[in-house]
Amino acid sequence: MKIICIGRNYVEHTKELNNNIPQNPVFFIKPETALLRNNDPFYLPDFSNEIHHEIELVVKVKKVGKHIAEEFAHRYYSEIGLGIDFTARDLQNIHKQKGLPWEIAKAFDHSAPISNIFIDKNELNLKNIDFCLKKNNQIVQKGNSNEMIFEIDKIISYVSKFITLKIGDLIFTGTPAGVGKVQIGDNLQGYLQDKMMFDFWVK
Ligand code: ZN
Repeated sequence: MKIICIGRNYVEHTKELNNNIPQNPVFFIKPETALLRNNDPFYLPDFSNEIHHEIELVVKVKKVGKHIAEEFAHRYYSEIGLGIDFTARDLQNIHKQKGLPWEIAKAFDHSAPISNIFIDKNELNLKNIDFCLKKNNQIVQKGNSNEMIFEIDKIISYVSKFITLKIGDLIFTGTPAGVGKVQIGDNLQGYLQDKMMFDFWVK
């Protein structure tokens, strides 16, 4: 399986990193080794001094598809989870300046913690999903799917022009504003609506 991540999908987050609002979805990939499950702790890697949290709604692909039309995209997923796209912001900034790829900043081991819980999309209004990240019991990021620049169906249609989607692939749909640094000893809890989806420690 693979993890497809959308960048710059919320206006306020795009502004906080001084990026332009994209014309098409921006995406990158994390390998399977990026997954972190079961509320396992995240061990802060030694190659960065600035690991940022990015809380994101995650779509699980349930059907193989290529060149999926936007109007049929809803057939390719039925569950929504929650994850964090951990980012080595210091390394990413250097690589952005030099025009280099982002893998060392985005695709490292355990950079994609994911909820064990996924919620049936029929139990949600996809255009109005509240989610948030609490760090040490304080809300640090808060978003709603209605703030996405590109909605889920549009993302699926666009990405599948280039890359075949397979069963079990995960799509991280971008982060709202409020990204920030994590430190050893932090507790991270993700909520989708009122449901706690994950709860783990940074070690
Ligand atoms: Zn992200």
